[in-house]
Amino acid sequence: MPSGVLTASYIAASILFILSLGGLSHQEKARRGNVYGIVGMAIAIVATIASDQVSNLTLLIIMMLIGGSIGAVVAARVQMTQMPQLVAMLHSFVGLAAVLVGFANYVDPSVHFEGVEETIHNTEIYLGVLIGAVTFTGSVIAFGKLQGVIMSQPLILPARHWINLAGGIACIWLGGWFLDAGSVGEGLVPLILMTIIAFLFGVHMVMAIGGADMPVVISMLNSYSGWAAAATGFMLSNDLLIVTGALVGSSGAILSYIMCRAMNRHFVSVIMGGFGTTGGSVTGEEAGEVQSSSAEEVAEMLSGAKEVIIVPGYGMAVAQAQHTISDVTQKLRDVGVNVRFGIHPVAGRMPGHMNVLLAEARVPYDIVLEMDEINEDFENTDVVLVIGANDIVNPSAQENPDSPIAGMPVLEVWKANTVVVSKRSMATGYAGVDNPLFYRENTRMFFGDAKDSYEAVLQALS
Ligand code: NDP
Repeated sequence: MPSGVLTASYIAASILFILSLGGLSHQEKARRGNVYGIVGMAIAIVATIASDQVSNLTLLIIMMLIGGSIGAVVAARVQMTQMPQLVAMLHSFVGLAAVLVGFANYVDPSVHFEGVEETIHNTEIYLGVLIGAVTFTGSVIAFGKLQGVIMSQPLILPARHWINLAGGIACIWLGGWFLDAGSVGEGLVPLILMTIIAFLFGVHMVMAIGGADMPVVISMLNSYSGWAAAATGFMLSNDLLIVTGALVGSSGAILSYIMCRAMNRHFVSVIMGGFGTTGGSVTGEEAGEVQSSSAEEVAEMLSGAKEVIIVPGYGMAVAQAQHTISDVTQKLRDVGVNVRFGIHPVAGRMPGHMNVLLAEARVPYDIVLEMDEINEDFENTDVVLVIGANDIVNPSAQENPDSPIAGMPVLEVWKANTVVVSKRSMATGYAGVDNPLFYRENTRMFFGDAKDSYEAVLQALS
């Protein structure tokens, strides 16, 4: 393919990626945004395959078929609730790819630079491997925490800040050694040592972050994976990879910032040790009587209500209750009840998780409101239905300065006349913090799987 056509294809793909990101920021345009992204990626792949940079087309196609088939099977099988884990796993692949490309590029005898160009190229390799290695192990640990195979509570090593500082200084010193190395053989030693330190740093960083801060960590790793891809683009002199990496890196960084603001946190304090690292009881603190309700009682409360707010959480995703909740909403709206949804920025297990589920269940967008838009309305609400949510409606975040989640903004559901909490047991949420809401006088626990429970309510309403 002539280089002009390749450049034009890369520019077209970059524009489509930017349009895709723009589309994904609005629910109504999200589908179109996805299509732009798919078309952009298709153009990018075809143009790259057809370019002169590919020396072994057969090998490339075999590898693409293997990778593509695995990706297709995994994507077809993954449950909506497992999406965050899948995303974390995919970030880890980007990190690992950056490490492997960095090493391959360094030892490749056909890549040869002199003087300043050599220093610049080696700096790109060093940074690419460093960011890639942190992204790889950090994402693997994030995957483990989201999958539940690693505890979500933070693991704090004594003198952890000193350990991090020592690691940072060692990486800078090794970087100097790497750039001054007289031969590839000599340069490999500091490169391998730095990679090991960066692997350990990724593990250490994410292990030390508390459960409720995981949303920030995921968007941060998303950002890192973008910078790792951009660094790979510099190593390979591939403009499209640089642009795409920079788009992912900067949008991930902006998302991390938005998440931090939504959680009332400073980015640095998340990295330095997040929610759940302070003192205070994590579980078992609360005791007392809870009042439970049946489906018929919930239906009765709803029939007598004028204002209803539904707060969905991770449990709605687990139960796949969104369609049933949508049917209940429709039924209530048909008889004139004002039903709205209150969405917490970190509800579920990934940014926008609840919006995706509600859109899938065809809940009208105009009744789905963000936390800031609806938080003041709870006191004028007759019934709040909390569907499989826990941490995002925990009053101790506001009322107990010793709580591990103190300061995190929450939906103030307890201010409503009656709160109906649908969950299966008294278990805690992701942050592992007990929830005093369940023991309040105006709270009714509605035990059971959210989908089954609300199918019974739907029946009772009919
Ligand atoms: P939580 O994890 O706090 O609580 C979910 C609740 O759902 C649990 O208490 C569970 O209780 C209940 N549940 C589980 N399965 C079912 C079911 N089948 N039917 C009914 N209930 C069920 O979720 P929230 O959405 O309130 O809060 C999100 C948490 O996840 C926050 O701590 C957030 O920081 C964290 N997080 C968010 C991410 C994001 O990007 N949004 C990413 C990573 C973490 P029981 O077992 O008793 O049923």
